Amino acid sequence: MKCLYCKKEYTTSLKKNFKPFCSERCRSLDLSNWLNEKNVISSTLDPEDNYD
Ligand SMILES: [Zn+2]
Repeated sequence: MKCLYCKKEYTTSLKKNFKPFCSERCRSLDLSNWLNEKNVISSTLDPEDNYD
């Protein structure tokens, strides 16, 4: 399997399973990336006439 974050091959025979990521680190990094993107999108969507 390939990690969705670092694209590294990993094995699912690990004691802890972080599917679809290879590690907890990748999982949390991907999550923070996703949250950042969401923030960027919502700030871009802010109407210009909203700043007073
Ligand atoms: Zn990874």
